Amino acid sequence: MKTLKLPSGKSIPVLGQGTWRMGEDAAKRRTEIDGLSLGLDLGMNLIDTAEMYGEGGAEKVVAEAIEGRREEVFLVSKVYPHNASAKGAVEACKRSLERLKTDYLDLYLLHWPGSVALSETLAAFQTLKKEGLILDYGVSNFDLKGMQKAMSLTGGYEIATNQVMYNLVNRGIEWDLLPWSAENGLPIMSYSPIESSPRDQKGFLDRPALTGIAEQHNASAAQIAIAWLIQQGVVVIPKASDPKHIRENRAALDIVLSTDEITLLDQAFPPPQRRMPLAMR
Ligand code: NAP
Repeated sequence: MKTLKLPSGKSIPVLGQGTWRMGEDAAKRRTEIDGLSLGLDLGMNLIDTAEMYGEGGAEKVVAEAIEGRREEVFLVSKVYPHNASAKGAVEACKRSLERLKTDYLDLYLLHWPGSVALSETLAAFQTLKKEGLILDYGVSNFDLKGMQKAMSLTGGYEIATNQVMYNLVNRGIEWDLLPWSAENGLPIMSYSPIESSPRDQKGFLDRPALTGIAEQHNASAAQIAIAWLIQQGVVVIPKASDPKHIRENRAALDIVLSTDEITLLDQAFPPPQRRMPLAMR
């Protein structure tokens, strides 16, 4: 798997698997576990989860999928902002580890900015790192101002990544956050790469610019959306439970879009012309 470098020098895979909405429905559990296992078999070895997803249910699904193969996996989880105090984040991480049946996370993120002082969260992250319970830490849903403030705090310079919503229809971060992150050597993780819910995907995956390029590559529109993100130099974590989707997402890694195709996508999904508020789900 192709990787990017985190500021710590560790590598992060560019394509992984999301788990939002997993672990919520017992009837879907087997499909979700098998789906994540298939993704791992295909080499999509980053798994992104959170204590929020299914209120711990997604982490339990992940535990079953990674059983016996933990060392293959780059495992990411996130702490709820209301749990992110100096003591609370350490305890929340330990609960996540228990549900995940592992003794460390590759990356632990603050899920979104909350009311607990970030300095407390960073202190907890440093404690967890010292204890070897997490190898790296970062944030999610932080805009440029939030990142600049975070980086100025004790432990802020060790922030490894910022996970944000970024896809062809939400390109706001290209105005400021994406170039700033690149200058500072922080890879961005793109969530909702294909617009998340089937309802939101309507009117996106059937746009002629996408379907036209997809046809040229004998691929699907979703694959083109993922390939475009990978070419933007970010980490991409599509969620899929349907085996057809999982295979397609892995194959998107091998699609190379030409300069002309990138221009066509820019015309159909224009980059920002001014600063935009950070898109969030
Ligand atoms: P997404 O990955 O953009 O879209 C998921 C949806 O797309 C599912 O309905 C899935 O269907 C479908 N799908 C997957 N691959 C497909 C393909 N090749 N063709 C057509 N449809 C496809 O949305 P997301 O779950 O919002 O985002 C991905 C991950 O990012 C999450 O799971 C989560 O881990 C993370 N995330 C983080 C935050 C945050 O605040 N940090 C917020 C949102 C998401 P099936 O499941 O039926 O295959």
